[in-house]
Amino acid sequence: MSPRVRNPTYEKYVTGPIERFHESRTIYSMADRGEVRGFQSAVDRGLELKAARRQPGFLREDFALCLAGRTVDTLLRDTLLCRESQKRRWTIPGDPMEFDSPSTASTLVKRAALWFGASSAGVTRLDRRWLYSHWGDHYAQHVEGAEPGDPLVIPDHYTHAVVMAFAMDFADIQRSPGIIPSTDLGYSQQAYTAVSLAEYIRMLGYKAIPSGNDMALSIPLAVDAGLGEMGRHGILITREHGPRVRLSKVFTDLPLLPDQPVDLGVQAFCETCKKCAKYCPARAIPDGDRSDRPRTPSNNGGVLKWQIDPARCFDWWYRNGTVGCANCIRTCPWNKPKGLSHSLVHGLIARTTGANAALVKLDDAFGYGRQVIRATPTLGTYLPAWSRRGAVARAPNEDATSVSDYPEQSPERGEGA
Ligand code: SF4
Ligand code: SF4
Repeated sequence: MSPRVRNPTYEKYVTGPIERFHESRTIYSMADRGEVRGFQSAVDRGLELKAARRQPGFLREDFALCLAGRTVDTLLRDTLLCRESQKRRWTIPGDPMEFDSPSTASTLVKRAALWFGASSAGVTRLDRRWLYSHWGDHYAQHVEGAEPGDPLVIPDHYTHAVVMAFAMDFADIQRSPGIIPSTDLGYSQQAYTAVSLAEYIRMLGYKAIPSGNDMALSIPLAVDAGLGEMGRHGILITREHGPRVRLSKVFTDLPLLPDQPVDLGVQAFCETCKKCAKYCPARAIPDGDRSDRPRTPSNNGGVLKWQIDPARCFDWWYRNGTVGCANCIRTCPWNKPKGLSHSLVHGLIARTTGANAALVKLDDAFGYGRQVIRATPTLGTYLPAWSRRGAVARAPNEDATSVSDYPEQSPERGEGA
């Protein structure tokens, strides 16, 4: 069980008013406006740089697996995400379902979220500071009637959010900065689950809007909902899967009982650790102190935090010839496979800061966070256990390959960063 606290751990770092963020300031909207290089140019560059040399982790089949994993997300953005109502084929007539208590409703809805595919789920009262103030280029293009620059309005009767985390494959993340297909598959999983959960809530007689990365900042909502804390790398750290998660949420008017936030000990641990900053090839993550001064147009002020530089990050994706990177997730000491010893260490971090420096050194000494490229890692994850050996054995490049075998493709520091 995670240690529950009354207030989210970011609250003690709030220094002033936090303004709602304009979605046009996200790096994705900037890419859509041509201000930075976007996904297609990264794919083109990746194929040009890597595929001809047949390097594992950068092959055409890696790109194909990665981009194909987005298929459901792409369809749902154009049809169901960010929308209050669906064109249903079926309906359940009658008044909204009555619950004994908000607690009962919360339990039911969170169970449904897990049923549809979430790894974990939490509930928070909707803090409207986390809603985007306006539509930006990236998401408005998918929603009929929304134009970039239009105010983003979620009516006041939407009082709660159900926030869901989706674990990505551990072995797949180890490939970074090679191509990581599980990130894109995660987009589809989060979209599918959000639209399914929204429909479930509507079938109970309440209103619901499903949302992926659009409409609101998912990380503070997830912190409020007790799923984890934000780390130095600007990513949610959960107790169960560390930062190896994707997020989606559903806004609703169903009266729910909010979960309490958690204090995992992340804030103090990040002050000591700094591994994500050290291994970020783009130097997009600061290794110094927190600041409440925005470092780029894509940052917000009002709270002391480590201000990352998304433009540097995005540019590295292009220079690396990939459509992503997860070095900051791969090297984070919270990114571990399930295991009793890791759970005990995380429990220790939550109770005391005294062992943090030693634990970071141990993490390095055990070689955690190194790059490992296996062929078609998803086969190992999703096929039934009895078939895994044969399936992986038939794949090329069966053996794990360490970063040292491919130094030119995986610098721990990017050139010119
Ligand atoms: S370049 Fe890679 S390691 Fe650095 S912030 Fe971006 S994703 Fe993380
Ligand atoms: S790598 Fe270390 S400093 Fe970075 S987020 Fe993880 S725990 Fe915090």
